[in-house]
Parts: sequence; C-alpha cells; structure tokens
Amino acid sequence: TKHFPVRRTAGDLVARRHRTVHAVDDVTLELRRGTVTALVGESGSGKSTVARLLAQLYPLTAGEIRMGGTAVKAGRGRSFRTYVKQVQLIFQDPFASLNPVHTVRYHLTRALRIHGRAGSGDAELETNLAALLERVQLTPPHQFLDKFPHELSGGQRQRVAIARALGADPQVLLADEPVSMLDVSIRLGVLNLLRDLKERLSLAILYITHDIASARYFADTTLVMYAGRIVEGGDSETVTQHPAHPYTQLLIASAPDPDRVADEADQGETGSGEPPSLITPPAGCRFHPRCPKAMERCRTALPPRFDLADGQWAACWLYDGATVQAADAPEKEA
Ligand code: SF4
Ligand code: MG
Repeated sequence: TKHFPVRRTAGDLVARRHRTVHAVDDVTLELRRGTVTALVGESGSGKSTVARLLAQLYPLTAGEIRMGGTAVKAGRGRSFRTYVKQVQLIFQDPFASLNPVHTVRYHLTRALRIHGRAGSGDAELETNLAALLERVQLTPPHQFLDKFPHELSGGQRQRVAIARALGADPQVLLADEPVSMLDVSIRLGVLNLLRDLKERLSLAILYITHDIASARYFADTTLVMYAGRIVEGGDSETVTQHPAHPYTQLLIASAPDPDRVADEADQGETGSGEPPSLITPPAGCRFHPRCPKAMERCRTALPPRFDLADGQWAACWLYDGATVQAADAPEKEA
C-alpha cells in the first residue's frame, strides 16, 4: 500500500476591509490513497475553505501542504505543477462548473489535452474519451459525448465533472458537497461511483458534507469541523456511533435519519443556536456558547486534542481525565 499524505496546518485568511476571518485554524489532516475522509460541518464552518486551500486556490496564511512527504511550494516549480494536476476539485454544482456552450466531448478532450493524455491521433483520443465516460458509468459513451450540459440530468452532469477531473489522472479528489444539489434519489449512485473509483484507482478522496449520516455510509474516516477547527476525528463508524465531542453529538441528534442522504434544504443547521462569527470567534472552546456541557474553563481555555480509544480523538475538556492521555496540540504533526 502506498500512503499518500497531504497535510496542512492552516492559519487565518485575511478578508477584505482588513479584518481577519479565522476561517480555518490549526487544521491538520492527512489523506491516504484508497480511503475516503469526510469533513463534516455546518455551512460556514470552514470546510469549503479547507478544500480550496488544498486545491491551492487560496494561499495559506500559515502552515504547509505536503504531498508524499514533500512540501509543495505554492505557484512555483515542478512540485506545484504536479500537485495541481494530481489534486482535483469537484464542486457542489456541476451545472455551474461545466460551460453550457460546450459539449461533453469538448470538456473531456480539453482536460485530456491539458494533462497530456489525449493520445496521438483521433482514434486514440476517441478511445480515451470513451474510457473516461465508462469510468463514470455513462454508457454507451457515444450517447453522451456530443451532448451539451443542459441535455443531461444533474447526476449525469456531476459524472461528467468527475470524468473531467479523472482526465488529469489524479491521486486526490476534493469533493465539496458533491451530491447536495442532486435529487435525493440519485445521490447514492454518485457516492457509490466515487467509492468505486476510490478502490479501482486508489484515490484519496476528501468528502466535504454537512450530512454526517452520509459520512457514516461513505467515508472511512470522519473529521468534524466547528467554527474553523476540527473538533473530533476517528474512523467513521466510531465517530458516528459513539460521538465524543458535544458538537458531534448535537449533529447526530439533529440528523434526521441515518440511512438517508440528507436533503438539500437541510444545510446542517442544528437546533440550538447558530455557528459563531469567525471574525471574533469565542474565546476558549469555540463551541462553549452552544454546549450543554460547558464548564468554567471552557470559556477561557482552548481544549487541546485528547486521544480516546481506537484512534478516535476529541478537542474537548470533558476528556481531560485520568483515563485518556492528552495528545499533542492539534497544530503539531501527529
Ligand atoms: Fe463543551 Fe467544554 Fe467540551 Fe467545548 S470543551 S465541547 S464547551 S465541554
Ligand atoms: Mg461550502
């Protein structure tokens, strides 16, 4: 097994009007080939920012991205060019990410050409185009190649967007709410496709979602993000069956049905309160204004990461006990 780490430790993003939005703080995550990592949180928790930082769409304020053990320098050199080819982003809205005046053939040919994978000559190009469409189960390929985006269903469009990303022969897919704009009935099919690609192509997939029930179904590892920080992590089964952090417990309690992939209207809002401002985040534990178990020190002291059993961890003072060991602070590499 080849391990493929992408680690980052992020700082603050400087917003317009000279304010600092603490969009993502001290986030460290590692994506391994052949696994799906879910990053779960409410809208505004910073999870899309993490994807955009990993895709190098924004520069990091602090921290670094490593690929296969090597630090990637933004905007420069061969390691950066390799990185942006190997790390592909899939957006929430496939309609917006495909150009409406161009056919499927155009989008996929362009992706193959950019990445030097079109082959020599028309016959080879046709073969490669057909292979891409078969990969995303749009068959027979000739029925799809000359269609325009508006002639496809939402699910088919997202499959074309995935095929285009595969045109780069990536190692990592960053999928930002890839099914939340799709009809409930076709979400599972797209998630199953991604899972199949993970296995067949040994991809590392970051699955960003507000729907913790789908993380349980689809992801190997689940990370829970609140107000720009990752507050809990572990294997998906453990995190969703035995959530340790009060925020994860709240998310699960307000998830409508564990077997259903959440509704578009459900943007992950939870019953008690709103996520805090990231311009002036609360002191101490950022969840303390909403936390039913908040203690005095939660208001002033930021909880470090405490390791629990079986690789699960939580950044919560409740676990500062004799039975668990305090791990390194989250900004340090594990
Ligand atoms: Fe609640 Fe305190 Fe744990 Fe934060 S550290 S989640 S406020 S108990
Ligand atoms: Mg988002």
